[in-house]
Amino acid sequence: MSNLIIRRAHIKDGEALKDIKISGGKITEIATDIQNDNNSKEIDAKGNVVLPSLIESHIHPDKAFLEDRKPNKSGTLEEALKNTAELKKLYTFEDVKKRAEKVLRWSILNGTTIMRAQPDVDPYEKTLGVEVLVHLKEKFKDVLDMQIVAFPQEGIIQSPGVLEMMEETIKMGADIVGGCPYSEKTMEDTKKQLEVVFDLAEKYNLPIDMHADFGTNADDPQNTCIELICDMTIARGYQGRVAIGHVTTLGSLDPEVAAPIFDKIAKAGVTIVPLPVTDMFMTGRTERKNIPRGMAPVMAMMEHGVNIAYSSNNIRNAFTPFGNADLIAVGYLLQVSQQMGSADQRRAVLDMVTYNAAKALGISDTYGLEVGKNADLNIYDCDDISNLINDQPLIRYVIKRGEIIVQNDLTRTMASVLMED
Ligand SMILES: [Zn+2]
Repeated sequence: MSNLIIRRAHIKDGEALKDIKISGGKITEIATDIQNDNNSKEIDAKGNVVLPSLIESHIHPDKAFLEDRKPNKSGTLEEALKNTAELKKLYTFEDVKKRAEKVLRWSILNGTTIMRAQPDVDPYEKTLGVEVLVHLKEKFKDVLDMQIVAFPQEGIIQSPGVLEMMEETIKMGADIVGGCPYSEKTMEDTKKQLEVVFDLAEKYNLPIDMHADFGTNADDPQNTCIELICDMTIARGYQGRVAIGHVTTLGSLDPEVAAPIFDKIAKAGVTIVPLPVTDMFMTGRTERKNIPRGMAPVMAMMEHGVNIAYSSNNIRNAFTPFGNADLIAVGYLLQVSQQMGSADQRRAVLDMVTYNAAKALGISDTYGLEVGKNADLNIYDCDDISNLINDQPLIRYVIKRGEIIVQNDLTRTMASVLMED
């Protein structure tokens, strides 16, 4: 493993620049004017921002890049599920691998070297998505840390055989138990699904990551499972080990109804993962005016101490025909949609995709810009953390365990009038 010193790194807004020393894949010193006493390679960050790796805490590489095979004309969840189910019947290992691999490569080029992938486990795709991602996890192990969720997109109770398949995928290498309560047909089955998800997770002592409450109708009990999930999390001693994607219904509640729910989410240590691109593309499709933003209310939840980590979810398919696996671009959408305009709020958006996401993935002990943590770092062409998402800057270096895995050399030619004085 190489030794590396990053000089003149902007680590925190308003603080002096620091050097970062890396050895054995870990950060060994952060200080000013570090001595190069072991012939380390040096990078001059030139006062630019150094961040720990971005974290994609919720993404579906197995169903990416399907947008033109069967487009979702209505833009609804129902049509997305129907079209994608048809396409899944035609999947081959090579097809899924080619598309998933592209997501991984794009993510890494965009500074994401830690990922929680959510391959579907259902009657159509069966265990193929997990098999592909287990293969890619090994192939990319030096440049990407991956967790794999066994995600029952088509439900568990209404889809016989899925629970057994999920257990099979755990033996193959899936390390998180997924859930999708909105996919069941009745509330009774929805409750049953939550029970079997917790049972399976407990059996193998694995964390849980569900898709839940994806809609804007708060009168539908199947769209308001969050309290049930939090109650179960506390009852089963699963605090800090449950993450939930979407939860858009929370945005439809009156603030006085929502406040005690936010407190319960915080108490249960459940991470909420808004998926801004999908959430805004799919929700509110039946409205004709005052169309809702269709997202979980990020700022209100933050005030109640809820851990929030946003993510891409889908890249170019029937659920989300957009995306380039760039979490800074997704953050731009989140800060605008959630009206997070102050410098502190804009920095908080960046925390969601770094430190908060690390908490959601249970990796805080090895993650961050501190001595002793893994040297998984990005150096940007930007000197202000509060404006990093606004700038959408070039990433000059992506560093994984102290090794440079991506380097972008900035060569720009421009008319003299465009140059700064
Ligand atoms: Zn998802």
